[in-house]
Amino acid sequence: MNTNKKLLLIVTIMLLVLMSAIVVNVALNFREYSYKSALDKANSTAEYVRDGLTAHMVNGIMDKREFFLNNIKNHKDIKDFWIIRAPKVVSQFGPGFKNEGARDKIDKKVISSGNMQYKISENSDEATLRVTIPYKATAYGSPNCLQCHNANEGDVLGAISMKFDISDTRNAGIMTIAKIIAINIVFLIIALISIHFFFKPIMQLLHELSKMIRYAHLGDYSKRIELRLKGESQEVIEQINTLFEKLQSTFDDLKKSLSTFIAGSSISCQNPLEESKKIINELSNIYKFKKTIELDKDYKDIFMRIIYIMENRFGIKNYKFYLIDKEKNSRELINHQGDITNCDCSSVDNNAELCRAYRTRLEVLSVDFYNICQYCENSPATNYLCIPFDINTEIALVISIFTDDAKEYESIQANMKKIENYLDAAKPVLESKFLMQKLKDSSLKDALTGLYNRRFLDRFIEKFAKQAERAEKSYAVLMIDIDHFKMVNDTYGHDIGDLVIKELGEVLKSSIRSSDIAVRYGGEEFIVLLYSPKKEKVIEIAQTIADKFKNIEFQAGNAVFKKTLSIGIAYYPDQAESIWKAIKFADTALYVAKENGRDQIVEFDPSMYKDGEKY
Ligand code: GH3
Ligand code: MG
Ligand code: MG
Repeated sequence: MNTNKKLLLIVTIMLLVLMSAIVVNVALNFREYSYKSALDKANSTAEYVRDGLTAHMVNGIMDKREFFLNNIKNHKDIKDFWIIRAPKVVSQFGPGFKNEGARDKIDKKVISSGNMQYKISENSDEATLRVTIPYKATAYGSPNCLQCHNANEGDVLGAISMKFDISDTRNAGIMTIAKIIAINIVFLIIALISIHFFFKPIMQLLHELSKMIRYAHLGDYSKRIELRLKGESQEVIEQINTLFEKLQSTFDDLKKSLSTFIAGSSISCQNPLEESKKIINELSNIYKFKKTIELDKDYKDIFMRIIYIMENRFGIKNYKFYLIDKEKNSRELINHQGDITNCDCSSVDNNAELCRAYRTRLEVLSVDFYNICQYCENSPATNYLCIPFDINTEIALVISIFTDDAKEYESIQANMKKIENYLDAAKPVLESKFLMQKLKDSSLKDALTGLYNRRFLDRFIEKFAKQAERAEKSYAVLMIDIDHFKMVNDTYGHDIGDLVIKELGEVLKSSIRSSDIAVRYGGEEFIVLLYSPKKEKVIEIAQTIADKFKNIEFQAGNAVFKKTLSIGIAYYPDQAESIWKAIKFADTALYVAKENGRDQIVEFDPSMYKDGEKY
């Protein structure tokens, strides 16, 4: 039953109950009122008869009472009427006329008890009230009954029985009730029609709205309310339709843009809101992951973090995590977990090309052919999945996952797409950490100071600059030169000169972070690249370097001397579109520092160039 019908039924029942209550109440009141008025009439008639008979008695014309009594009998409301002599009167004055005895049980009961009795008889044609009222002897009336009657106070002297036709009263009552019922029915009909007309459209609107929301819950925002109603209801419909239109287009946009953010994610029609939320959560997790790994020590730390995510977030239990060195064509097992003995493909380690996933750069799925990888001696019951992932021209990863459970296999495949999103995010960071690691033990270092040498700068500086650009980070370039260094060589000898250069190297190492790069650029000239520094920090760091160096006391035989530095600073990409240009600007600033008297820090300013010439 729909809500409209339910409402109509409830209102009908309520009005019918109300109508019945009114009708019953009116009927009962009416009945009581009609009996009471009939009884009042009976009491007045009884009094009238008593007074009449007493008058006849006092006047000694008791034998003429029949005329008086017949007159009363003929009254239109009185259907029947008789009087009864009590035994006391019969014994004193005789039995009276022949009709003056008790006619039935009621008469007898009233004579014997002295109490009034009445009875109502009703049928479909008429309604009558039969009343019998006793006359009792009393000395206090006027006249005094006891003067004439041989009776005591309260003795029953007789009674009067009357039958009244109360059909008219009853009919009037029935008519009144009929009118009340008619008015109620009219009211009920009006109420039902009003409800039907006023509430039906609202009910339809609610019904349509709930249908629309049900669909929206399932991810379908295309439904609209097609009803045409009047006034405010129509306004509501239009507003709801507009709202859903906006929701639909927003979700369409979300669908398009979010699914491009994360590979392997797609917003189905099932529940775009829920799925968008999941993707945004995933994006935020990946963002946090990326921020975290940027500060990790080296690429192996990042691998462990990826492994942690695989195990804890994606529930991968049995796996091997390989690092492939493309130059050496070797494969190294970084980590493994769970039951991996099923597939021992260690023979591939010395020749990574034999790894099918690495060689083809395609996923290797044992569900396609259980022995698809000829180096994995695997039981048919266990499935494996090997995923290759290229980091750069030098390294790649291969992750092999094993499971006996077909269902788990499917979920692993789905999760692998998500894991690849983490690998994608990690790729540039891994690349730079790997590079840093490689540089640490390469020949690109200066033997005297242990800092990077000029060759390093030539080979890698562009790469660093590109990475910074991708990450929207900057570099501050510090060009550092020892003041009047030639004099040290000339005065104390070349070895002491070397010592001074070495000390400056130590000062630099102790003054920069791991993400910064210090390079011995030539002779006693150094370059420091500060990675993504706060502007105010740059001068502070330069000052620290200058101060530390200035305070070193060099010993040369008995002589002790101190040296100072001149530092030029330029900013990439704020001041120069290429890192080499920034280095040149820093050199220009250094030149200015020297020109201005040395032992100072100068930041590059474009005004240092005049007419295309160096200042
Ligand atoms: P300023 O920079 O203040 O203008 O004066 P400077 O005396 O430092 O001038 P310049 O840069 O011309 O001198 C650099 C000298 O450093 C020249 C060279 O003999 C010396 N030098 C270069 N490499 C080394 C090295 O490895 N060891 C030592 N002891 N001296 C070096
Ligand atoms: Mg110098
Ligand atoms: Mg120099």
